[in-house]
Amino acid sequence: MESLRRYRIIACFTAPLHLAVAGIFGTGGAPSGRPELASWGTAIAQAHLAAAAGVVLTALWAHWFVAYRQRATAGAIGLQIAVAAAYLYFGAHVTLIDLAFNTGAGVATYLMICIMFGVLALMRPAISVPVYLLTYLVFAWLLERATVSASQLTSVRILALVAPALALMTSWINWSQYSKAVLLRRQLSRSNEAMAAQQHELAFLADHDALTGLYNRREFMRLAQLELRRASRVPGETAVIMVDLDHFKQINDRHGHPGGDAVLVATAACLQQALRVTDTLARLGGEEFIVLLPDTGREGALRVAAKLREALWQMVVVFEGTNIPVTASFGVSSMLAGTAASETATVDTIYAAADRALYVAKQLGRDRVEYAAPEG
Ligand code: GH3
Ligand code: MG
Ligand code: MG
Repeated sequence: MESLRRYRIIACFTAPLHLAVAGIFGTGGAPSGRPELASWGTAIAQAHLAAAAGVVLTALWAHWFVAYRQRATAGAIGLQIAVAAAYLYFGAHVTLIDLAFNTGAGVATYLMICIMFGVLALMRPAISVPVYLLTYLVFAWLLERATVSASQLTSVRILALVAPALALMTSWINWSQYSKAVLLRRQLSRSNEAMAAQQHELAFLADHDALTGLYNRREFMRLAQLELRRASRVPGETAVIMVDLDHFKQINDRHGHPGGDAVLVATAACLQQALRVTDTLARLGGEEFIVLLPDTGREGALRVAAKLREALWQMVVVFEGTNIPVTASFGVSSMLAGTAASETATVDTIYAAADRALYVAKQLGRDRVEYAAPEG
């Protein structure tokens, strides 16, 4: 496809060039003293006229392939081969006319076309080798049948062989450099993609817990601090609920770490589903979770905690065919915003109170909700 793309551009220069040459040779007439060259001019003009028409048609065809076919189809490859073969044949044809009329031009045209293709066209060796070889064989065959003066024949034969060989070498170098560049570009874009994905994941892990996908402790503390600062400007209460799964060690012991992990993931989803979107749920670590409830007082927070406790009761975690029942203890605390105490209070104050309440809940037999007011 890159080859056809290039050919489209090259055709913009070569088509007018062929027309110009056809015009010059077609209207120039014979030089004085060599009237036989009149028909030589006509033959050259005809060849260039045909080349111009061929270039326009094939360039339009190439444009169609490039514009409407993203991948190199058999048709596109066929067109590339046909253009190369036809152009090389054109060079051979004009050279044979030059030789037949003994104009002294030698194999200049064939040489030029070969080199032009070697430098500008992009052909994989699997295509360029047979194309150059075949056109050379055709040229050599025609050369043997052309009326070429014996003095010229040896040098013509040598040049006719050297020209495609040189072109083939150039084409080969061209191709290998191009394919290396393409491979490098592909590798680069692949590693760029991998890097972007990694960066995305790292950014996620910076403030999220990898197992449950919830916020981690650090992000929770930051969000809670922000919320408390906001709440201190509008009258209202903020509450925190700490959740600690009961006898989680036993779950791990009974079902293994993967079983424990499954419970943690299910618990996270269950809690998240039972909460409002404005509530912030995070995993503090281990089997401990924490919820921040904006604009919620003691009664509201206790209701939410009871609802979460009920939700965990209803939750079904089936691991390796066994249902794992889950209960948790809840420590609740709340703080009135707009008071002197809460303006200076940090998240730590309310967090410490919730932790105390949680401790009491554990002491009182687990699977229950306890409340503690923040100190001060
Ligand atoms: P309690 O009712 O008093 O809370 O008892 P517990 O067993 O739940 O509490 P404890 O703190 O003694 O045990 C918590 C266990 O959680 C210990 C640890 O191995 C386990 N744990 C911590 N993080 C993970 C984790 O990411 N995955 C799993 N599967 N287990 C974890
Ligand atoms: Mg614990
Ligand atoms: Mg526990």
